Amino acid sequence: MRGVGSISKNEGYRRIHRRTWGAFVLAHMLVVALLSIVIQRDRQLIEAQVMRQTAEAARLLKEKVDDIFATVDGSLKLIVAEIRPEDLQENVLPSRQEEIVSLLRRHKEGFKPIANIGITDASGLALYVAEGKAGFRVDDRRYYHFLRNTPSAEISLSEFIRIRSGSNDPAILLARRIRTPETPFLGLALTPVKLAFFEEIIEKLELGVEGVAALYTHDLVMLGRRPAVPDNLGKPLPDREHILKLIGDSDKGSFKLVSPLDHIPRLFSFHRTELGLITVIGRSETDYLAPWRAHIYWLAGAYLALFVFSFVLVRRWLAARAAELNAIETALNESERNRQFRTLVESLGYPLIVIDKTDFRVLHANEDTPRSLGIDKEDLLGRSIEVLLGEDAREKLERTLQAQNLEVHLRRPDGSTFWGLISVTPVEFQGQEALMVGIINIDERKAREDELAFKAHYDPLTFAYSRGYFLERLEAVFQHARKHGRTLAAIAFDLDRFKSVNDLYGHAAGDTVLKDAVAAAKSVLRDADLLGRTGGEEFVVVTHTESLNTACQIAERLRAAIAAQRIEIGSSAPLQVTASFGVALLSPEETLEAWLKRADAALYQAKRSGRNCVCTG
Ligand code: GH3
Ligand code: MG
Ligand code: MG
Repeated sequence: MRGVGSISKNEGYRRIHRRTWGAFVLAHMLVVALLSIVIQRDRQLIEAQVMRQTAEAARLLKEKVDDIFATVDGSLKLIVAEIRPEDLQENVLPSRQEEIVSLLRRHKEGFKPIANIGITDASGLALYVAEGKAGFRVDDRRYYHFLRNTPSAEISLSEFIRIRSGSNDPAILLARRIRTPETPFLGLALTPVKLAFFEEIIEKLELGVEGVAALYTHDLVMLGRRPAVPDNLGKPLPDREHILKLIGDSDKGSFKLVSPLDHIPRLFSFHRTELGLITVIGRSETDYLAPWRAHIYWLAGAYLALFVFSFVLVRRWLAARAAELNAIETALNESERNRQFRTLVESLGYPLIVIDKTDFRVLHANEDTPRSLGIDKEDLLGRSIEVLLGEDAREKLERTLQAQNLEVHLRRPDGSTFWGLISVTPVEFQGQEALMVGIINIDERKAREDELAFKAHYDPLTFAYSRGYFLERLEAVFQHARKHGRTLAAIAFDLDRFKSVNDLYGHAAGDTVLKDAVAAAKSVLRDADLLGRTGGEEFVVVTHTESLNTACQIAERLRAAIAAQRIEIGSSAPLQVTASFGVALLSPEETLEAWLKRADAALYQAKRSGRNCVCTG
């Protein structure tokens, strides 16, 4: 089984890998894009909402400031209406003077923000004051010059001032023109308005932790602010030009700005009052974006979880896919290998049986197996090879593995046997270790070999041992007898007057006679006796005997058996033949040749003695 590592080299898997991660990155880019759109939109909505709120607050603040100044101006209007041109001349009656001062005092007492009220003549000299001493001059003031030179204007505001009478409170002064239909400028009614009134209003506002509310003059001199910055009170804002540009000519508006005072980024709304003052409400980003930020953190956390989760999911899926592909590839390789293996096995042209290496179970047998061995595949498949090789199959297989080839006797399931030449090769089959057993039926060769051996060992006419093989066997028997001190007898015999048989009845008849004579002799002999054809019609029998006498008896039995035969040779009457016998008992110390010679000599002795008899040597 190949590891996942190998599949990573597979082009198909690489494509899946690439596409999956590509889709993963794309999907996440999409999610991130959507999230940022949602987040941006959220922020814009929040900012729009905050802008509406600050604009509304700035408007409300403006209205309150307008109310105050309207009330103050209301008092000034009433006072101005009471003042007569002669009141502003010299030599006013003390009673009238007192009357005017008490009028001023009444109005001053009537409205808290009013710090004092004064009346000046056209030259800017204060003639009457509600409190303190008159006689000061305002002709150096901007509002004085403005009102004197601008007949269309009825009122004017001063710069930021501090009230002279001890308290030093911050204030702004409202001046109203005193006129008659004939004379447009008789003097001024003045009242410093304490800016504390503004502090009281903004104290009650809901501004958040870092929110700001402020009142400025038209040229951004600070009249009041919450949170307070006492050092800047009455002074122009730092970076005034820039902010003036932002405000422009508008009566109201909103903008984002990092506060030049405390450097906190805020969203500001402003509103101009009737008298040209500017109310400002600012909400800090930190304040109003806090829930939005919390939302972002929440979204980021959720997204991170989604990312990790999908990442793990994709990785797992890819691993599973790799394993799947691996399995498919392995299976394909496996089946391809098996296909190749089977093709090879089938094309070999001789029986091949594949067996499991451990339990010798037959896994596969090729088509030649039934054809050549005469064994049905069904009788083999799933069974142990012992069915064929016998119980010592393991030993045979091991021997074959070492010796390459082994001739073994095999047994078919039906019980019949045959000779096989087996070869064993270790192979891998369907992913497991196996042995491929090749079997060649060598029955024919074996038979041929047997035949050749038979031909080499036997005389084909009489089936007595051939001369060579007889002498070979005799040598072994001779050595064995010598070693064990046993006695052997050699009986040589020769057919009598055989030439005349040939002459009279033909060579074929002679052959028949020879064959039958030997058959007759064999019927007398034991299995252990050797019978060899040593010459044309000369034979030697070697037998284990203890005595010459016994040997002679055997020779006699042979003689009688041959003589008793009636040999059919076809047309003429049955023939009878005899043979002469020479017997020699092996003497101690005697050589094989000397012993045989003695038997031969005894045979000639028998010939000379008239034939058809037994002589000893
Ligand atoms: P004797 O009694 O002295 O042995 O006389 P004989 O005629 O048998 O003389 P000898 O043994 O010398 O003769 C051998 C003859 O046997 C010669 C040969 O023609 C014949 N002969 C030898 N081998 C064969 C054989 O294989 N077939 C046939 N038909 N005749 C054979
Ligand atoms: Mg003869
Ligand atoms: Mg002869």
